[in-house]
Amino acid sequence: MTDSPSTRRNFLTRAGVAAGTFAAAFGVPTGALGGTRHHKHVYKLEPSGPGYDCSASQQSNHNCEACNACQSHAKNKLFANKDAAEKERHRAHPGCRCGVKRGRKVSREEWRDLFRPHEDKKLVVVDKRDPRVHRILQS
Ligand SMILES: [Zn+2]
Ligand SMILES: [Zn+2]
Ligand SMILES: [Zn+2]
Repeated sequence: MTDSPSTRRNFLTRAGVAAGTFAAAFGVPTGALGGTRHHKHVYKLEPSGPGYDCSASQQSNHNCEACNACQSHAKNKLFANKDAAEKERHRAHPGCRCGVKRGRKVSREEWRDLFRPHEDKKLVVVDKRDPRVHRILQS
């Protein structure tokens, strides 16, 4: 690299949204990019409230809150993206009516630690009760 650090920084700033991808691909430390745009959200399930499908039109099994299994899932599961959270196989049980909402904001580095613990392993859902996950979230 013959670029001076400042040239490099300007390039990264202009690259905008792509900068994170660039950083990930080339191993530039995320801290060097600065700014608050370089974060990601994790996604969570919503076992009640506006996102929850309480089935108000089917009075027979209308329920404004999800079951205990769903409550526990919503409390503990963090998804890498919205798609993953929407997949039925990632739910507490078939027919789960939980909504999906944006959860906490994490740095790209934290997101990678959470969902890419190994080069060859791509997780889309992690559990806060997992000590590894717990440790990352506390740091
Ligand atoms: Zn309801
Ligand atoms: Zn349920
Ligand atoms: Zn559910």
